[in-house]
Formats: sequence, structure tokens, C-alpha cells
Amino acid sequence: MKYRSEVGLADFTTWKVGGPAEHFAEPENLEQLQLLLHWAQAEGQQLQLIGAGSNLLISDQGLPGLVICTRRLQGAQLDPATGVVVAQAGEPIPTLARRAAKAGLGGLEWSVGIPGTVGGAVVMNAGAQGGCLADCLLDVTLIDPAGGEAFVLPAEALAYGYRHSRLQAETWVVLSARFQLQPGESPAAVGARTSANLQSRTSSQPYQLPSCGSVFRNPEPLKAGKLIESLGLKGYQIGGAQVSTQHANFIVNTGGAQAAHMDALIRHVQAEVEKAHGLRLHPEVMRLGPFA
Ligand SMILES: Cc1cc2nc3c(=O)[nH]c(=O)nc-3n(C[C@H](O)[C@H](O)[C@H](O)COP(=O)(O)OP(=O)(O)OC[C@H]3O[C@@H](n4cnc5c(N)ncnc54)[C@H](O)[C@@H]3O)c2cc1C
Repeated sequence: MKYRSEVGLADFTTWKVGGPAEHFAEPENLEQLQLLLHWAQAEGQQLQLIGAGSNLLISDQGLPGLVICTRRLQGAQLDPATGVVVAQAGEPIPTLARRAAKAGLGGLEWSVGIPGTVGGAVVMNAGAQGGCLADCLLDVTLIDPAGGEAFVLPAEALAYGYRHSRLQAETWVVLSARFQLQPGESPAAVGARTSANLQSRTSSQPYQLPSCGSVFRNPEPLKAGKLIESLGLKGYQIGGAQVSTQHANFIVNTGGAQAAHMDALIRHVQAEVEKAHGLRLHPEVMRLGPFA
């Protein structure tokens, strides 16, 4: 299995920012993935997994060691009779939601606007419109890079919460996930609900510009977007990073932004909200690599 060196990671994130990976690979099957993990272990390389890069802020200085992108590990089996779905880590969430709708399986309609992979969604407990991944997750097949063997953990062992899972603190690689969806629904009805969710997202959020979705977790019961908007920060810009004029919890790349601009704007918004409301917003997006 070949890896490439000094690969720019901006092309592998939806924000379109980030410096180079020292080494980078996109395995296409389990064997290639295991060879890469074995190589990283044997060489003492730092290891970083990424999926579709839709929730990542990668430093302009890039990342040391080996970055493995699992987006090519695609595929899913859907059983319309039982509603059990097995999806590989790289399967795009919107594709899975559409396939589930076609098979008359309910339960993923909320996820169609999330441009991540199954692996990233399992780690992040991605969610929208009242649903989240943990609601229908049965179990996850993982690999511990240290041993290289696959093992299965049930969803209950993964400490799921709001945009949180135990996997965020582990070094395990997500290989695949098993879901229990609701069988026996009309494909037309599930499809219509799925399309309506996408329509509501694309009409209220800036899908036409590079972003990472919501930047901050909602300080429940408050909404981060409302707090930011109330301070008049919509349109506020640092370099190429701008608080979206459409949805204040999105920061968009208006062109030529660097990770440092995104980072500076995140800190500015945090400082303004803290000054005005006395509460600290916590980023949902994950920073990787060094930031000032
Ligand atoms: C326009 C837009 C809208 C969005 N809307 C939503 C939304 O409504 N709700 C929501 O929750 N999120 C949303 N997001 C954020 C993002 O899409 C989700 O967090 C998604 O689950 C991230 O998946 P990913 O594959 O891109 O993961 P990445 O961003 O690549 O990685 C996220 C985390 O998962 C880890 N990871 C990824 N793959 C693996 C693997 N195979 N094994 C081990 N670890 C892995 C990474 O190391 C990292 O820690 C949105 C983003 C955009 C750009």
C-alpha cells in the first residue's frame, strides 16, 4: 500500500483550509488499511484518521506522521425486511440516507444534509432536526492500531451524548457500523421526508460556500447562532473567514481563507459572546495540529 508525502489537506476538508500531511493515504479496502496501520506502528509515526473532513479545522502548518482518509472505504448492505443496515466507514451519510429511503427504511431522514462519512458521524454522534446517529446505532466495528485486529463494541459502550462519543478520546479506527432502521415504510413517504429535510437545510444554511457546518455547540437551551446574531456579528470577517450572513453559527470561506483566519474568528466570536452574555461557546469543529 502506497502513501504519498507532503499532501495538502485543504483539498480534503470542506472548509478548504489546512496545511500538508507529512504522509497521506486513502486505503480502498481493509487489507490496505491494515498495512498502513502496521507501517505507522512499526515506524512510530503519529496517526490521524479523517473521513470527509467536514468537521475539521486543520492547522496551516499541517500534520506530522500519517493521515489516513477512510472516505474510499465505501459500501452498505440494507435489509428491507429487518431494517438492519451495515455501512462501511467511508459511506457518505447523504448516500446512505437516500438508499434507506429507497428501501422504505425510516430513521435517517434527518441526516441527508450532513456531508460527512459514516465513520465521522459515528465519532461525532452527528445529528440534526431532533435526530442523532446514536438513536439508531446498534454497534461499531473498530480496529485498535496497536494490535491491528478488528473488534465490535455495542453503542451502549460508546458513551454517546450531544455531539459526543467515547471514540473522540480513543485512537481506534472505525471500520463499519450497524444500524437498526424502521422497516416496512413507504419509500415515497420516507423519500419525501428526506427531501423536505434537505430543502429546509439548504434554504436556511450557506451550502454554496465552503464551511464545516455549525462551528459551535449549542449552549442548550440557547442557540449559538441566535447569540452570535444578536451581537451583530453576521458578516464579520477576518481574512477570508466570515461569519455567514445567512446563519450566524456558520463560518464560511469567502475565498483564500487560511486556518489561522478561521481560528482567529472563532476566538473573536467566543470573546464577544463571553463579554456580552458571560458564557463560553465551545467549538463543535475539531482543531487538528498546532494553533497559536
Ligand atoms: C454544510 C455542513 C453541514 C453540516 N451539518 C451538520 C449537522 O447538521 N449535524 C452535525 O452533527 N454535523 C454537521 N456537519 C459537520 C460534519 O458533517 C459532521 O460532524 C460529520 O459527522 C463529520 O464526518 P466526516 O466524515 O467529515 O468526519 P471528519 O470531519 O473527517 O472527522 C471528524 C472526526 O471523526 C474522526 N474520524 C473520521 N473518520 C474516522 C474513522 N474511519 N475512524 C476513526 N475516526 C474517524 C476524525 O478523526 C475526527 O475526530 C456539517 C458540516 C457541513 C460542512
